[in-house]
Amino acid sequence: MFDRDTRDTRDTKDSNTPIKSFPNLSNGEMVKGEVKIKEGITTPPKPYTEGQLINLMKTAGRFVDDEEDSEILKEIEGIGTEATRAGIIENIKENGYIEIKRNVVSLTKKGEILCEVIEGNLLSSPSMTAKWESYLKKIGEGKGTQEHFIKNIEKFLRATIEKAPKAFSDSNVEKAIQEQKELSYIANCPSCQDGKIVDRKTFYGCSNYKNGCKMTLPKKWFGKSLTKTMIKKLCEKGRTNKLKFTNKSGKKFYAYLILDNEENKIMFEFPKAT
Ligand SMILES: [Zn+2]
Repeated sequence: MFDRDTRDTRDTKDSNTPIKSFPNLSNGEMVKGEVKIKEGITTPPKPYTEGQLINLMKTAGRFVDDEEDSEILKEIEGIGTEATRAGIIENIKENGYIEIKRNVVSLTKKGEILCEVIEGNLLSSPSMTAKWESYLKKIGEGKGTQEHFIKNIEKFLRATIEKAPKAFSDSNVEKAIQEQKELSYIANCPSCQDGKIVDRKTFYGCSNYKNGCKMTLPKKWFGKSLTKTMIKKLCEKGRTNKLKFTNKSGKKFYAYLILDNEENKIMFEFPKAT
């Protein structure tokens, strides 16, 4: 999907580099050459912006070695369509494979895992789009059938799923998964002491729920969004910093959030009047 090697091709047309041409030489002429080592430091390629990424999807055919596939991709304008490309990126972002900060796209740990696991698989190549498109064209010309197409995709998916555990057993991937898991830990579970509180999208919950821990915390309380930092403080210290709330009649008030020891439910603790 995002072959990191392809990035290097961007910088080859650097117009600032002067072009040194060879002097005219005749056959058999002796030439004295001087070979020097130039020391330098490599710099990582610049990360893409969202716009550049969309453009790359459009011109994905450039990065395909197979000439036929490359030609098809040129014809159909790469991966996705004008209407779907931004949505594809949004989807990858929502699933946590990439992050977009100040319009700069970067790969998350989860994204790295995905890239590593599908490396070398057709899934990681724009050729997949080309192969599917070429068969769709065949169907259009009456030379292929829908059944054959779907059957082949099914075969491909089955084979990919079968191979997945082997790809995952690679130690690098295991390590990355562990790191990713640890990154998503917010705090130790105050209820079972064994699990970790993790973000479950619509609420915070204990990773040990399969063993019966029912510890959950809401994402919103009294109209206030509870951030991971607040939850961490609450779970580890039993109490948040002093927070500002608004009551139903619009009046602002300050309070700490504390955990009720028995039921592990959130409660207010009001600052003592001075
Ligand atoms: Zn727990």
